[in-house]
Amino acid sequence: MPDQPEEFRHVDDLWDDAAAAALDPVERLRYRSNLLGADQRITNTGGGNTSAKLTQTDPLTREPVDVMWVKGSGGDLRTATRANFASFYMDKLLGLETLYDQAEVKGPKTEIEDSMVEMYRHAVFGLNPTTGSIDTPLHSFIHFAHVDHMHPISAIAIAASADQEALTAEVFGGTVGWVPWQRPGFDLGLVMREKLKENPNLVGLVMGQHGLINWAAGDKECYKLTLSLVERAARFIEGFDKGAQTFGGQKYQSPDGPARERLLIHILPRLRGMVSQRQRFIGTVHATDRVLEFANSHDAARLAELGTSCPDHFLRTKIKPLFVDWDPQAETADALLQKLEQGLARYRADYTAYYEACRRPNSPAMRDPNPTVIVIPGLGLIAWGKTKSESRVTAEFYSLAIEVMRASESISRYQGLPRQEAFDIEYWLLEEAKLKRMPAEKDLARNVVVVIGAGSGIGKAVAHRVAREGAHVVCADLSLAAAQETAEELVKLYGLGIGVAGTGISGCGPAIGLAADVTRRESIQALFDQVILAYGGLDNVIVTAGIFAAPGPDGHVSDDRWAQSYAVNVIGSHTVADVARSVWQAQGLTGSLVITTSVNAVVAKPGSLAYDTSKAAANHLVRELAVELAPLVRVNGLAPATVVEGSSMFPRDRVISSLSKYKLSFDESETTDALRNKLAAFYAQRTLTKAPITLADQAEVAYLLSTSKFSKTTGQVITVDGGLPDAFLR
Ligand SMILES: [Zn+2]
Repeated sequence: MPDQPEEFRHVDDLWDDAAAAALDPVERLRYRSNLLGADQRITNTGGGNTSAKLTQTDPLTREPVDVMWVKGSGGDLRTATRANFASFYMDKLLGLETLYDQAEVKGPKTEIEDSMVEMYRHAVFGLNPTTGSIDTPLHSFIHFAHVDHMHPISAIAIAASADQEALTAEVFGGTVGWVPWQRPGFDLGLVMREKLKENPNLVGLVMGQHGLINWAAGDKECYKLTLSLVERAARFIEGFDKGAQTFGGQKYQSPDGPARERLLIHILPRLRGMVSQRQRFIGTVHATDRVLEFANSHDAARLAELGTSCPDHFLRTKIKPLFVDWDPQAETADALLQKLEQGLARYRADYTAYYEACRRPNSPAMRDPNPTVIVIPGLGLIAWGKTKSESRVTAEFYSLAIEVMRASESISRYQGLPRQEAFDIEYWLLEEAKLKRMPAEKDLARNVVVVIGAGSGIGKAVAHRVAREGAHVVCADLSLAAAQETAEELVKLYGLGIGVAGTGISGCGPAIGLAADVTRRESIQALFDQVILAYGGLDNVIVTAGIFAAPGPDGHVSDDRWAQSYAVNVIGSHTVADVARSVWQAQGLTGSLVITTSVNAVVAKPGSLAYDTSKAAANHLVRELAVELAPLVRVNGLAPATVVEGSSMFPRDRVISSLSKYKLSFDESETTDALRNKLAAFYAQRTLTKAPITLADQAEVAYLLSTSKFSKTTGQVITVDGGLPDAFLR
């Protein structure tokens, strides 16, 4: 296009000729996609798609054939690999139009339009298993070799403005056309083809309420064109920046950082309970200066009510966020809680009314009527999702929607997606089918599990076990480094997820590592405060921290070691329960607590008085806490016996002292592991099941006790000891 901006100030040109030259044509598409997806100003996580029409060899005929590669359903441009792209025979894809034309009723939102999505499978090239997205026709009906469809903030700002068509002409000077909002699908592809036929000089189209699509003959050319169009729109918007009058100016002021954190810690568990009555949610707090500028503004209430525009944003953020008009300077935290309660009741009623007004005869049943985004002056936005990753994406999308509104309100007047159109996206049967295809949620999905003692031994095994069942895991340990190591292992195994949002610890992934000293109440309080800021609340707590005070060479346990045994093994578990109790009560959601005791609690023997009596007390603590915390929280005990494998409770000196006690032969020169195995084999022989007791055996029971499988069990201690008649509970 003429007079393209020479330099980019609003986007980064990341293209590297040498890097691109080393790639095959499909990899070049992947490369271009990754570059575009890396910049949130160009597109959002999971949003937009790219394509390349290539000539490839047909595996059947060995003849050259035209193939279109296009980002498939569910992929994300930033992180896309070759596997995220679908591939189709061009002739078959275009041939679908004949089938489409034969339908009596056709056009946007018709049955034939939706059924075309299934037909793409018949056009697949090279047995590629990646499913094509509903945007596939947007790429196939544009005859240019390379097409980028993006959701840039600056372009959506134009597309979501009251005078979007005129603005498009003004900003792009006729080289970019405009199409009004239309739900993506086969028909929109045909509409775009018509636009290009009418004006062959067009290099792209602004898509009303949605985004931008543009094309070129070469891939680098297409990439640079995308950048220059986004840049051009951003420069235009820049000229209208309202400065201090953005969003009508500031109405409220934010509290300082520490005060903000205290407020969040106070309200988040209550709020999580309020939005989780149907199903549990994980929270993400996002409070950048720009988000706060919106939340604190005069216009926030009006704009929040208009909802988001780009359908991608909208699917996560719902029809609109809940905005709570609360003055951080003049009103109390309790007043905020009251307003949240009232606001949520109103929101659910509004949502139900929206569903009833817009539903169609075959619409799926109404989904959870709670908001996924809550905007509060001074605090920013709080997003809720079924996983940390999803709530981070939702927070990202609303913060992008704020940027769209900022820009649109400076150049024109912002418009949200019309209500019926929003509904037809949210309750689209194709979306419903996608939801139905999702695998069933795991046992501990939507749960936050705090494992205290997760740095080693049983605690580490428990952290891994619950993570496998979909839990978000807080790995806490006296050793911060050990806690973080376990958390890092989990993040590596399960991935950080997607979504670029979350302020401070709230930007975390599915696991975090934190320090915790159970003998210090302030340490436990600080731990749970961080858990709240990270995830919005908690569901299950599993305490595996404990100490074994071995007698000295004279066979005695010193007074301070006695005190320490009780401080950790008994009082520590109580402190954890006591601090967690206030979170559970604030949420009003059921939870569970598992305390690790020991079979030693019921077996009297010489040499371990301090440990055994402290564990006996812990057993009874389980029962007392079960009574205290009912009916909200179940409390159960896990009583392991002598797990020697990887246990920090069995350092070398304890292993040697045990081997000596049982008169087992050993040599001082043997490795600690060898000595441990010797002791484990001896212990196994004493049990009814004759097999060594492993960390995995313990972790399994701690996990099961935390799930609904044991929903009717509380106040019980389960032994995992291989069967020791002496330790049978009575
Ligand atoms: Zn789109």
